[in-house]
Amino acid sequence: MNNFEPFRCPECGEQVRQANGKGRLREYRRGVPPLAIPDDFLVPTCPGCGETYWSPEDSERLTPFLEDEFKKWLGPHVAELCQMLTIRHGLNKSQIARICGVTPSHLSHVLSGTAVASDTLIRLLEALAACSPEVQRHMVGAVFDHTRCTPFLVHTAPDAYAEEPTTSDYIRVEAVYESEPATPEVPTTLGSLAA
Ligand SMILES: [Zn+2]
Repeated sequence: MNNFEPFRCPECGEQVRQANGKGRLREYRRGVPPLAIPDDFLVPTCPGCGETYWSPEDSERLTPFLEDEFKKWLGPHVAELCQMLTIRHGLNKSQIARICGVTPSHLSHVLSGTAVASDTLIRLLEALAACSPEVQRHMVGAVFDHTRCTPFLVHTAPDAYAEEPTTSDYIRVEAVYESEPATPEVPTTLGSLAA
């Protein structure tokens, strides 16, 4: 069990005690919102300033609960991203799966909560939901054209990563288009995505 010994809070001097509570959140993973800590989970907490003192053991004990919370968050999150792609681009789930390079059945399992999406799939869906031109490119099966990613930033400092770059470290490279990029003819090759 837990061999917690009360101690003084270094922040305010109050006696830190094991405490439960409602509405507590804990950072779980980059890019994921903080997740709920079970109400009855004991954490050394300062009653004066509210500071919590997590031991490695407590963090480890909490991990399975956060994993469950993560799975509860994931299905609806992926569903929302798919819905955005459906509303904006008319894609069905099978087409979304093909664009992401996963099988339609895997995406179905993720949406129904019987499979966990990889970080790669989550980030890809988020990127596609945020970036319509990329979705349209996949819909017509066009090769990626990096010249259309301009204007982009080129770092000119020789020691580029030595310190935080400043605006003056960059020069802006203007987009050079012969003409405006043509809007892809969207629906024509959609059938091949679902094949
Ligand atoms: Zn305190």
